[in-house]
Amino acid sequence: MVNKVNVIGAGLAGCEVALTLAENGVEVELTECKPLMRSAAHTEDGFCELVCSNSLKSNDPLTAHGMLKAELRLLGSHVLKAAEECAVPAGSALAVDRKQFSQKVTERIRSSPLIKIKTQAADGIGDGITVIATGPLTLPPLDRVISDLFGSLHFYDAEAPIVSAESVNMESAFFAARYGKGDSDYLNCPLDKEEYEAFYEALVTAERADAHSFEKREIFEGCMPVEVMASRGKDALRFGPMKPVGLTNPKTGKRAYAVLQLRKENAQGDMYNLVGFQTNLKFSEQRRVFGMIPALKNAEYMRYGVMHRNTFIDAPKVIDDCFRSKKQKNVFVAGQLSGVEGYVESIASGKSVALHILGLLRAEPKPLPRDTMIGALAAYVSTENADFQPMNANYGILPPIDPPIKDKTERRQAMLDRAINSLKKYQENI
Ligand SMILES: Cc1cc2nc3c(=O)[nH]c(=O)nc-3n(C[C@H](O)[C@H](O)[C@H](O)COP(=O)(O)OP(=O)(O)OC[C@H]3O[C@@H](n4cnc5c(N)ncnc54)[C@H](O)[C@@H]3O)c2cc1C
Repeated sequence: MVNKVNVIGAGLAGCEVALTLAENGVEVELTECKPLMRSAAHTEDGFCELVCSNSLKSNDPLTAHGMLKAELRLLGSHVLKAAEECAVPAGSALAVDRKQFSQKVTERIRSSPLIKIKTQAADGIGDGITVIATGPLTLPPLDRVISDLFGSLHFYDAEAPIVSAESVNMESAFFAARYGKGDSDYLNCPLDKEEYEAFYEALVTAERADAHSFEKREIFEGCMPVEVMASRGKDALRFGPMKPVGLTNPKTGKRAYAVLQLRKENAQGDMYNLVGFQTNLKFSEQRRVFGMIPALKNAEYMRYGVMHRNTFIDAPKVIDDCFRSKKQKNVFVAGQLSGVEGYVESIASGKSVALHILGLLRAEPKPLPRDTMIGALAAYVSTENADFQPMNANYGILPPIDPPIKDKTERRQAMLDRAINSLKKYQENI
């Protein structure tokens, strides 16, 4: 009989676990090291801190991330709900005011009579049911305990800079939605061919911080620093974060050669995130090189981009498809540490773990259906894989539709319908 659970780490995953368990009458002791200690990426005191982008990716249910959100909504995700309450305009993406979001979740945790908060850096795992949700930047001495128990792997993850809105040169920048679809939420910074070529040369030759501390192969493809992406070829950025297609400058009526997009960072709209410009350049180089983009020539940096080592366990070897340790049955791992990759994936793994712990109240945890995105992520991280790397929500991890559907939109719709039906059946049977 489960009546008390220890959750270590009040991040995206840990907060979802704690709030879901408390909602179901289970007492939680939530251990969080902030504000006593913080990782190099965490700067705030509140829980559920987004360390990098303020975007939780697409909200369109016919995308992999939108589908995962639709599933989480059905399962009553507390953290996703809070994110939706703090949304800032970002086209079809769900982006949030990170301070409001953290405050909201923190208040909900603090006001729950069933959640007791313990402020300390955890140094071990107790005997009771324990969820380790300390994230990719787990602080010592727990990091060593985890490494001994599970073995740990790592890759590198970079943050994008944030600039103040008033410092963006509005003579150059313009608001527009790609192909004019939806609201003009993004601020676009155009470059002509000459400006782009000069910017490109400066970017690939700019001085990087800790240039030798990581190998190229250790960089996660989805979080690749802009300078590394640029080094793949002169046009790599024009097909990536600086894609100009569908963006007509209303001041000139022309399409630019390359465009950097800025996304609102907070509800007031006084800060902007450089979309896709995660970087490991030295701070002075960020000012110099990004300042070659005309709209950013006098940019004031509220936060510079930085790179961090990102740790995860060798999940296929050590956890099952309920995120439960194969060796120590009282221990669950949730969040990025468990081998899922991304904010919403971390929330989803937290929701899965909470549901599995609630399952222990009845009998054994029951894996979530594999034809849902949330279940497919759990299946992926727990399936044997000699080259295991953290996994984002994507259609490739779902079983194919049978019989196959050629049209992409119809196929995605069928996958979404199948997932929602499976989740409803799962909910009826637990
Ligand atoms: C630099 C960087 C940038 C990233 N950028 C993005 C991005 O832009 N988009 C995206 O989708 N994903 C991004 N990620 C990946 C991932 O989605 C986030 O790290 C996400 O916050 C993971 O959620 P989590 O709950 O697992 O961990 P976290 O949100 O990091 O929460 C872990 C919590 O545990 C606490 N903690 C740590 N050690 C201890 C301890 N010993 N005792 C007690 N408490 C402890 C921490 O203070 C923290 O509050 C990034 C990761 C990194 C490292």
